[in-house]
Amino acid sequence: MQSRSQSSTVVLGTGGTIAGTAATRGDHIGYQAAQLGVGALLGGVPGLSEVALESEQVAQVDSKDMEPAVWQALARRVAHHLGRPEVSGVVITHGTDTLEETAYLLQRVLAPAKPVVLTAAMRPATALHPDGPQNLLDAVHLAREPGVQGVVAVLAGQVYSGLEVRKQHTYRLDAFGAGDAGPLALLEAGRLHTLRPWPAGVPLGLDVIDVDPALWPRVELVSSHSGADGSLVAALQQMGVAGVVVVGTGNGTVHQRLEAALLAAQAAGMKVWRSTRCAEGRVLGKPDDVLPAAGTLTPYQARVELLLQLLAERKGLRPG
Ligand code: ASP
Repeated sequence: MQSRSQSSTVVLGTGGTIAGTAATRGDHIGYQAAQLGVGALLGGVPGLSEVALESEQVAQVDSKDMEPAVWQALARRVAHHLGRPEVSGVVITHGTDTLEETAYLLQRVLAPAKPVVLTAAMRPATALHPDGPQNLLDAVHLAREPGVQGVVAVLAGQVYSGLEVRKQHTYRLDAFGAGDAGPLALLEAGRLHTLRPWPAGVPLGLDVIDVDPALWPRVELVSSHSGADGSLVAALQQMGVAGVVVVGTGNGTVHQRLEAALLAAQAAGMKVWRSTRCAEGRVLGKPDDVLPAAGTLTPYQARVELLLQLLAERKGLRPG
C-alpha cells in the first residue's frame, strides 16, 4: 500500500479569481477571473516542486457563471481520479462566488472516502499580495494528510465541510464561514489541527446527475419581504419550475400573500422548502409545518439539495 507521501495529488482547475489577472497590481476588483491555467497557478507556489502532482483544466469560468454542465464534467473527473489507487486526493481551484454550491453538490453526489479539497482566492493572481498561492499550498497539504476524507474547502487557513461552507464576506481575505457549525479544522504553518469529524455519508452516485443539463428540473429561489405577493410564484408555475426554495424572514417565516401562493403551488405539485435570509442560524421546523424547513442549509445549499432530490426521484433513486 502506498503512503500518502508517495502518492499523487490531482489538481483540477475550473477558473475563478485565483486564476484571475488585472492590468495593475493594486486592482482587486476590476480584474478578469479565469485567465491563468492550473499549471501556471501551481508553478507560482514555492514548495510544491517536491510534491507528486498532476493537473488538469476541467473548465475556465468565473464561478458566478457556473453551469450544470461544468458540475457534471467536474464530478466525473473527480470520480475518475479518486478511483485511481495511486491518487490519494484531489484539489479543485474554483471561484469564490459559487464554491459553496459546487462543494455541496460534490459531497452529496460522491461522498468520497478520499479528500477532495476546494480552494479559491479573493484577490487575483496579479495582486501585490495575492491569497491564492497560500490557499493552494494549504489545499495540497490537506489533500495529502492521512485521515482526511470528504469534500472540504480551505481558505485563509480555515477548513470547512463541503456541506456547510458559505461565502459570507464580499471582500475580506477570510471571506468564508460555516454558520453556527464553524470550521472543521485549522491549517497553521502547514500543520493540521482537526476540530470535528470529516464529512461522510452515503453518496447519491454520479448517475443522479448523469442527465442532459437541459433536462434538469428547474429549482428557483423566491424571497419574502415587505409587500411580497404571490405573482412570481404563479409565473414560475407557468414556466414549469419544479421546486422553489423560499428565502424567508427570521425563522423561515413568509409573507401571508406569498405563503398562500406557495401553498397553492405545493398543492399543485411544486416542491417548496423554507429557508432564511438571516445570515446566521437555521430554520427550526415545527411538527405541523406544511412547507418543510431547510434546517441548517442556506438558501443556495437548499436549492442544490432540492435539485438533487428531484433528479433522484426522476431516476427512481432514494435521495438518502
Ligand atoms: N467572480 C469570481 C468567481 O467566483 C470571484 C472569486 O473567485 O473570488 O469566479
